[in-house]
Formats: sequence, structure tokens, C-alpha cells
Amino acid sequence: MSIGVPAHSRGCPVCGGEGAHLLELPRQPVYQHPVPAGARVPEPHLVDLSWDACKVCAHAWQPNFNAEQLRNIYRSHYYTPAPSGIGAQFRNDFLQVLHEQQLISTARVLLEVGAADGDVLAELKRRAGALHAYAFEPNHENAAVARSRGLEVRESFFGADAANAGLEPTDLIYARHVIEHVFDFASFFAGVAVVAAPGARLVLETPSLDFHASRGSIEPFHIEHVHVFALRSLAWLSSLHGWGVHCHAVTPSGNLIAAFSRTAAALEPAAPELDGLAARLERTRAHLRELLSGRPLIFWGAGSAGIVLASMLGREPDVWTDGNPNKIGKRYVGSERPIVAPEAALGSADPGVAALVVTSSFVNEILPRVRELGWRGDVYGPAGEVLQAWK
Ligand SMILES: [Zn+2]
Repeated sequence: MSIGVPAHSRGCPVCGGEGAHLLELPRQPVYQHPVPAGARVPEPHLVDLSWDACKVCAHAWQPNFNAEQLRNIYRSHYYTPAPSGIGAQFRNDFLQVLHEQQLISTARVLLEVGAADGDVLAELKRRAGALHAYAFEPNHENAAVARSRGLEVRESFFGADAANAGLEPTDLIYARHVIEHVFDFASFFAGVAVVAAPGARLVLETPSLDFHASRGSIEPFHIEHVHVFALRSLAWLSSLHGWGVHCHAVTPSGNLIAAFSRTAAALEPAAPELDGLAARLERTRAHLRELLSGRPLIFWGAGSAGIVLASMLGREPDVWTDGNPNKIGKRYVGSERPIVAPEAALGSADPGVAALVVTSSFVNEILPRVRELGWRGDVYGPAGEVLQAWK
């Protein structure tokens, strides 16, 4: 049963504007993250997905989604916490923007919504010398790690009922890769309003539709992303709730980071070019299929980018690997192939014919390890771009 927005109600969830069909992705994986080898996850494991785009604010969204299914994923089937130092690129990009905008030094009370294992919040607490660092995190495994870092964890989703969470007024509120998952913007921003101190800053990080649409990249389009924001739609949404854009940036991996204050003027950025997105994705798919046809395949990166790419190719790699040792031995739901350590993965294939695809945003961490492990075969990025050529 779908408890999403009824099919007849196609208005934009940000501005109410008229939507037009943007993208159709049949038979996509429900579960984006590997699970322990013995875990039994009930069907369905595949789902047909589609996104509409707003003609007014350029927001992209899934008109039909199953909120109950998604809540269950976030609680029980989310990503595997990594040891410190692994997969740190996103986190460093984020900290860099906060540092450049001088948002850290003045923060005394911090709140992260969807704090995962709390690594960023713990680091910010240390840098700011903050008095309180609150984390909202609905996933059990992650919340336990965040608590062990000395953070004040509320093991729940964030919304209007944050009024009852007993928080001191917060002066820096941020959410990384959360707003694109949110079902109810009004509740989210009501929560922000009740916890924010006067003069508070709000920072949101989310995949940039402008960036990914221009590259024909499929990365942001998976089941968990009920929304994909353009800068235009994010600015629109926040201004409806009284927050103006103070500054914004797009990281090299395609993440939009925007900081908001109540005093910043409203911004009305231009809409990205969305016509032809489906055709650009089709070109990427055709290129990859030709490039990888008949070759043994290794994917390095067992997260959402990997499973989305496998689904786009219509083919699982022969070998999955990942730099996060906590994922080794886990499997994707519906797959028989356990994730193996990088040494074993690269040792198993003939570098003269096999293709290694980096299905992760942490290319700058992975490529040096690939070289260190002596792999001399072809290495590609998720759009088939050559990262290293066989020699
Ligand atoms: Zn709109």
C-alpha cells in the first residue's frame, strides 16, 4: 500500500506549482545499503520509481512514494558506520564551507538533524568548544555510536515535536543529506523554528540537481530521495519558512551546501536545464554498457552509488569491494555476492581485461589505495570517465 501523495495531486511540494514528468526508472533496488550476510529482508526488493519536476521552482520529487517503507529503511537498513578516516571527503568539504563562512567559532549550542554516527558533530563540538551538541538520529546502530562519542542523542525523526525534546536554544542547526528524504517540510521547519535561538544559522547539504542534471548523472535518483533540490527550489522552500540564503556552494562531488539566516535577503536563482535529462542519462548508460561489455567487473564502493549503477547497467559486478572494513562480508539485499576486502577484490581479477569502477564519491581516497595495492588495470568513474588507464 502506498501512503504517499495520491496520483491526482501533482502540485510541487515546495511551491505548489505545476509538475511535469521528469524521469522514469523501472525496477530499482529498494535497499541502497548492504545488510549482514544472514539478514532476511522481506520482499519487495525492487520498485518502479518516477520523478516529476516543477515548472516554477525546478524542484524534482517522487509523486508516489511509500513513507512507511522508507521509515523502516531508515530505522533498520541504513548505511554502515565507517571507522574514522574512511570516506571523509564529504565531511571535510562540509567543515571547510562552515569554516570559510565563520559559522563554527560563534556556535555554543549545536544541533545536527540526521547525525548518522555523529562524527561531524563531534568534530564541530570540539572545534567550537560548544556547550551542547544535540543529535537527532533514528537509526539504532548509528545512534549508539553517536552516543559513545559523548553527544546528546535523540533517537527519533526530527519535526515539530522537537519542542518537547528539552533542548537549549540552538545557534547552529544543520542537516546533511536529510532534507531530500523529508516527507513533511512544514513539520521539519516547525521543528527548526522551535529550537533555533535568535540569530541562529541553518545549514543544509543535499545533492545538487543543477550539478547532476547538467552531467546526466543518475546518482541522486534513488528510492530514498523523495526530493532532489535545485538551488532555486531550496531557496524557495527556506524563504517560505523565514530563512534567507546567506551563502551557498557546490562541492566537487556535486553536493549543494547552503547556509541560511533569518535576516538574509531572499534569493531567486535561475532554474537548471532539466529538459533532456532522461536523454543524457540514456547516453551515459549506453556509453557504460559499451565500455564494460563482456569484461569482468569490480565495483569499489558498496553504497547507494554502486547499487544504482548496477541497476542502470542491468548487471551486478562480479566482485563488490569497499574501503569500509565494517561492510566486508555484508551483502546487498537480493544479491548472493558478499562484499570482499579491496586486496581480495583486486587480486581476483586479470587487470588486462577487468574493469574497476569507483562507485563512490571518495575517489580521492580510493585511487591512492588502488595504486598502493598494485592494480594497473583500467579504473573508471561512475559515468565511464577514465580515472586510470591500463599500462
Ligand atoms: Zn515548485
